[in-house]
Amino acid sequence: MKLIRILALILLIGLLSVSCKPDDLNQKDIKEETYENIYDNVDDDIEINENIDEETSQFKSFFEDKLGYRLSDLSSENKKEFLIKFEKNYKIREKEDYYTKRANLHIAEVAQKLRTLGYEIPMLNFLDVAMHLKQHISAKEYNKLLKIAKDIVEAESNYVDTDAGLEADNIINQFGLSGHAVSSNINGEMVQLGLYSVKNGKITRNTLDTYIDNDKTIKTDKIHQKIWDKITQIIPPKYQNMISKYEMGTDAMYNLTGAVDVLKDKSWIIWIDQNDLIEQNGSFNTYGIGTIIHEMAHIISLNTEQIEENSNDPTLYKVDEGTLKKEAYLNVFYHKFWEFLIAEHEKIGREKFYKKYEKDFVTEYASSNPREDFSESFRYFVIEKKPTDNSTLSQKLLFFYQYPELVEVRNYIRTNLKENEY
Ligand SMILES: [Zn+2]
Repeated sequence: MKLIRILALILLIGLLSVSCKPDDLNQKDIKEETYENIYDNVDDDIEINENIDEETSQFKSFFEDKLGYRLSDLSSENKKEFLIKFEKNYKIREKEDYYTKRANLHIAEVAQKLRTLGYEIPMLNFLDVAMHLKQHISAKEYNKLLKIAKDIVEAESNYVDTDAGLEADNIINQFGLSGHAVSSNINGEMVQLGLYSVKNGKITRNTLDTYIDNDKTIKTDKIHQKIWDKITQIIPPKYQNMISKYEMGTDAMYNLTGAVDVLKDKSWIIWIDQNDLIEQNGSFNTYGIGTIIHEMAHIISLNTEQIEENSNDPTLYKVDEGTLKKEAYLNVFYHKFWEFLIAEHEKIGREKFYKKYEKDFVTEYASSNPREDFSESFRYFVIEKKPTDNSTLSQKLLFFYQYPELVEVRNYIRTNLKENEY
C-alpha cells in the first residue's frame, strides 16, 4: 500500500508537474552549497545486513529487470557495493517513507560508477546529474543542480508536488537531459526508458530524456515501436489523436503497468511499463492488453469533449479534470451505478465496501471509485461476450452497448487483435 502511494507520488511528480514556474531562483538566494556540505550530516545512514540475497535484491531489479544488463557481468567486488547501496536506499525509504539525501547519494554513486564501467545508465536523480556534469558546468550551475536535488527531496518529504526539476532545464538540456524526465526517475525505482511525441499516429523520439548525450541519433527503440503499434490497434484514431506523448518506463514487475494523464494543453500522455507487456517469447500478454484498454477508457471518459469547464451544476459528477457534461459517459454511469452508494463508500472505505458489493464489480480495483469502475467495466465490455442476464455487474457491461460509437471501439479492438490476445 505504501509503495503504491509512493509510486502514485512519483507519477504525480513525473506526469503532472508540467506547469512551469518562473525561474525565481535569485543568485543571492543561493547559499554556497557544495556537494560536501549538502550531504554531510543530513541523514543518518542505515545499518543493513550485508548478506543480501541477489535474486530478490533491489539492485537486481534495477540492473537486470529494468535495464536488461546482467549481474554476472560485474566483478564480485562491484556487485557487492552496488547491492549494499541499493539496499540502503530502499531501507532508508522504507523507514523514512521518502527519499532522503543520503539515499540519493548512495544511488548517485552507483550510477556514476556503472557509467565509468561503460554501462548506459539513465540519470537517477539531480545529485547524479550534478556529479556527472561537474566538470562541464560552472560552479554556479553545479550549485544550482545541488539545490534542485535538495529541494526535490524536501518537497518529497513534505508530500508536496514540485517542479523544481524544470529549473534545471537551462543547464542540462544542452547535454540531452530533460529536467522533467529526470524528476520522474527518482532513484531508479521507476525508470524512464524513452519519451516520444505523437503526431498523426506516428511516434518520434524526443531529443531530451534522462540519458546523457552519447549516441543521440534519435533512435526509436524496436520494443517501443512494437508496443506503440499494438496501442494503435487498440486505441482508435479519434482517441489516438488526443495523445501527444508516449512514455516508456518501468518499475517493479507488475506493479504499475500503465497510466494516462492530462497535460497542460489538455492533450494526454500515456505511460507504459514495457517489461509488463511482453512475454519472453515476444508475444503480448492479456494483462498488458487489458491495461491499454483500461487506460483508453480513462481518455474516453475524461477528455475535453466530456468535460464542462465552468459548470456550477451540483447534479453533475465532478472529477479532477473538471465537471462532466450532463450527457458525458461517466456522468451517466455515475448516476446509474454510484450516486446512491458514494456516501457509504466514503464512510466505510473501499475494503468493506467491496466485501459488501463484491458481486457488482468486475474487479476489486473497480470498487475504488466511479472512474476506475468505468474503466474496468469498459475493459470487460471489450473482452467479454455480451451479457444476457440482468445483474448489476452485467448492467455495467450492457451500459456501453447503448452507445454505438463505443460498440465501434469494441469492434475495432476485437477485429485488430488476435483472439488469444485479449
Ligand atoms: Zn485507472
